[in-house]
Amino acid sequence: MKITIIGTGYVGLVTGACLAEVGHDVFCLDVDQRKIDILNGGGIPIHEPGLDQVVTRNVAAGRLHFSTDVIASVAHGDVQFIAVGTPPDEDGSADLQYVLAAARNIGKHMSNFKVIVDKSTVPVGTADRVSAVIADELKARSSSLEFAVTSNPEFLKEGAAVADFMKPDRLVIGHGQDAQGTRAQIMLREVYSSFENSGHQIYWMDVRSAEFTKYAANAMLATRISFMNELANLADKVGVDIDAVRKGIGSDPRIGPGFLMAGCGYGGSCFPKDVQALVRTAQEFGHDLKILQAVEEVNEQQKHVLVSKIFSQYGSDLRTKQFALWGLAFKPDTDDMRAASSRVLIKELLLAGASIVTHDPVAMDEAQRVLALDFVESPDLLKQIRFENDAMQALDGADALIIVTEWKVFRNAVLSEMKQRLKHSVIFDGRNLYDPREVQALGIEYHPIGRAVLT
Ligand code: NAD
Repeated sequence: MKITIIGTGYVGLVTGACLAEVGHDVFCLDVDQRKIDILNGGGIPIHEPGLDQVVTRNVAAGRLHFSTDVIASVAHGDVQFIAVGTPPDEDGSADLQYVLAAARNIGKHMSNFKVIVDKSTVPVGTADRVSAVIADELKARSSSLEFAVTSNPEFLKEGAAVADFMKPDRLVIGHGQDAQGTRAQIMLREVYSSFENSGHQIYWMDVRSAEFTKYAANAMLATRISFMNELANLADKVGVDIDAVRKGIGSDPRIGPGFLMAGCGYGGSCFPKDVQALVRTAQEFGHDLKILQAVEEVNEQQKHVLVSKIFSQYGSDLRTKQFALWGLAFKPDTDDMRAASSRVLIKELLLAGASIVTHDPVAMDEAQRVLALDFVESPDLLKQIRFENDAMQALDGADALIIVTEWKVFRNAVLSEMKQRLKHSVIFDGRNLYDPREVQALGIEYHPIGRAVLT
């Protein structure tokens, strides 16, 4: 099928590359000339394991194209996926300006029946707004062309996006029940036929329920994390090992083992903004989502948990302290720094006068870009932070190591070498990477999250 993907970011690029991989003819559009130039030059603008091979293979096969040409992009795809960003607006609601701009372009330039697929995470009712924008554009040029707007939220995880897209737990597609909606269902079944044929379940539903399903999924996952973080903070006080508790409850099939790791808060481009947006949608309907408000509040507090532990160890004047900081990205295997816990920690440490030597396997360039924006009013503070290409060298002479991202390479680091390099062998571990017994047996002072019984 001829498919257009509007927005060539984390979701759009993976969607485009993977749909080309299963044989479709895919046109990826972006307004960001820099991204398109990188892609057309054979590069990949984001870090995502395995993505470069899929892109290279499909570009070579002539099934994957990148462009900033809006008119050509509308002409290309019978199915037009909208995968642009939906960042939080000032009040926490999803900012739909990019989605609606994409819709406007489709309405302006389409010349045959189109299926529009909202793949961006959008609040309930967005498909109606997308329809209205397209209908307005068609009316302005007295066109009676038909179209259908559908919802197909994306559940991939950054860091495992290609694998998640190629082997989805499930596909959720919302479509209308009218003639256009039925036509859209037939076309989307064809788009995803190779997935359905290999046993991946598609849940067909109405459009609003599909839109809501994405928020419900992220809200549930965020809730599990905040729930465990809140219990971990109590575990620290009452002398309980939260990791033992995690195993003890996760083995219950009614609970399941996933998303129960305590830590220094969730970040990224999805959970924080999607929880906020759902809370905001509820408020618009005069409804309070009490649990989700607490989930967000707990997470904001949790991003400060390491600093609290550091302050209670050293006091709040850190001018004589140097910390090694491992991990900047909001999670491993990505360079994404959106809402990363490291940003909160760095701000507090620098304001308290500390110096930091930091390392992240892939996110250091992106970190320097976002930190320059975070510190736009106090750029001198950034002189206190140094980016180090070698994780072990970042430890040299530090008063303590702080861990914020659970990269495998950190988990597998040799503790005895770490101890040797640190000036004082102290670790504040925001991701509970190590076995406390092993760390303590080496004479390292260990401050994990919620494992006080062992420290
Ligand atoms: P992103 O910022 O990486 O990419 C969005 C891209 O859209 C950018 O490259 C931007 O230049 C482009 N763009 C903006 N307006 C455009 C327009 N009018 N025409 C063409 N291109 C345009 O964002 P992302 O992380 O890929 O997220 C996209 C959507 O998918 C969001 O709604 C997000 O919530 C959702 N989502 C993200 C993830 C994830 O892990 N990142 C997972 C599931 C769902």
